[in-house]
Amino acid sequence: MTAVLTGIAVGTGSATGPVARMAPMPPLPEPRTVADTAAEAEAALAALREVVADLESRARTAGGAAAEVLEAQGMMAADPVLAERVEKLVHEGRDGAHSLDAAFGEFRAALKAAGGYFAERTADLDDLRDRAVARLLGLPMPGLPAPGHPFVLVAEDLAPADTALLDPTQVLALVTGRGGPTSHTAILAKALGLPAVVGCGDTDDLTEGRLVLVDAAAGTVRLDPAPEAVASAAAREQQRRQRAGRVHGAGRTADGHPVKLLANLGALQELSSAASADCEGVGLFRTEFLYLDRAEAPGLDEQTAAYRQVFDAFAGRRVVVRTLDAGADKPLPFANADDEQNPALGVRGLRTAARNPELIDTQLAAVATAAAASSAEVWVMAPMVSVPREAADFAARVRAHGLTVAGAMVEVPAAALRAEAMADSCDFLSIGTNDLAQYTFAADRTLGSLAELLDPWQPALLDLVRMTAQAGERRGRPVGVCGEAAADPLLALVLVGLGVTSLSAAPSCLGEVRAALSEHTLEDCRTLADLARAAEDAQSARAAVLARTG
Ligand code: PEP
Ligand code: MG
Repeated sequence: MTAVLTGIAVGTGSATGPVARMAPMPPLPEPRTVADTAAEAEAALAALREVVADLESRARTAGGAAAEVLEAQGMMAADPVLAERVEKLVHEGRDGAHSLDAAFGEFRAALKAAGGYFAERTADLDDLRDRAVARLLGLPMPGLPAPGHPFVLVAEDLAPADTALLDPTQVLALVTGRGGPTSHTAILAKALGLPAVVGCGDTDDLTEGRLVLVDAAAGTVRLDPAPEAVASAAAREQQRRQRAGRVHGAGRTADGHPVKLLANLGALQELSSAASADCEGVGLFRTEFLYLDRAEAPGLDEQTAAYRQVFDAFAGRRVVVRTLDAGADKPLPFANADDEQNPALGVRGLRTAARNPELIDTQLAAVATAAAASSAEVWVMAPMVSVPREAADFAARVRAHGLTVAGAMVEVPAAALRAEAMADSCDFLSIGTNDLAQYTFAADRTLGSLAELLDPWQPALLDLVRMTAQAGERRGRPVGVCGEAAADPLLALVLVGLGVTSLSAAPSCLGEVRAALSEHTLEDCRTLADLARAAEDAQSARAAVLARTG
């Protein structure tokens, strides 16, 4: 019988391919005495050369920004001073692995001392050290695999920074042992349009090269699937794509009620596919993702250039810029304190602005300069707003920079409860269902084991969405949803029925959402919303809506 792993379904679609695992960093072995220092030095240097050759060959196939990163890393590893140092350390009596570790350690200290851009590259050196040590010890290279053919990526979890080099033409699907439905691995999978199953628990059976069928709708990973299973999954996938491509243009229900369909944007790598997607603009530009691996705050010019790139790509369309949402699962060393016991409840999001106003002022100045030079319709919103006063202060700050449209995210239950007062000082509200679920149910969004509580179909969460949408309606302010809930075509109907006026999701999810809207009237959506809110729990809410839509 075929073995099947189950986890949390993320995104849509399915894919079949061989497993390639993200290998962990190899532990350094106990130091040992070296008998033949010349042979030991040669082995260590050979490992270093192989790392350089590997990076160079990956840079040749990667192209674009990823190629530049790989080339720069290759040049670091090829530094003759580094090789000399390794050789000297071996001749002083250390074994190869410890000589590599020590030599990289010295380079690391020097870079760190240099500060600024150099200090930010220390993670690259750590990665090179890990690769060289693994090669020397005959262990798999740590980090993202590059088997030279398309593969299903299996990892314990992926940090946002790990994913910058992920090549969507090579990765067919993602499977992780940890992570919840709104963890950043899940968000990234959607951004790349990849089927994913996260929070599978033990992934030991997913050995290198083993064929697996990843079904994102069912949340299953089938090991050694039979050819018939692969063929029927491929047929379903084709149907899904056909449905997603059936309707085009502005989002609207069957009776013509407009629902703006916007794209979520995380990294600049996603920009060209988002800009060419069928969408009315960007509903959530997660600016902090541009600076995740940075030790120091990016300067005004650099930020202006980055925002300009986005606005130019969306000329004539709306771009909702979210100011830095640093903290918790997206820590930025220059914005967050590292001594908080519970960072998800700490100084994060807009709260960092009170402690470090320069950070937000520089960002708003950069957004304003870039906006003035472009024809994009730029809106700005703050993350993690808790009380109306914060929303009012933020809106005033935005306007002081000459930007005209200011909004607040509703991600904290207190904000939903007082949405009307928030709407008074803002031009729009945007509901972040990922954090709103986390804080409503006191359930860490990165924990796969709490997926049931984090399920956006939870009726209590839908109550808060309704409360916010109604407050917006009373005050004449648009209320969007930009959390992962907006990416689910069935739930999108419910959100519209609750009064939400726009939906922002990964571009790869918008086609199915648009198709679902086109098949139902606003009145249908309202009925579905009532059904979902009347349900006892998330599962029965989904089942009730599914049964009604047939
Ligand atoms: C959210 O919390 O729903 C949201 C959109 O913000 P993020 O996922 O980036 O925290
Ligand atoms: Mg959030």
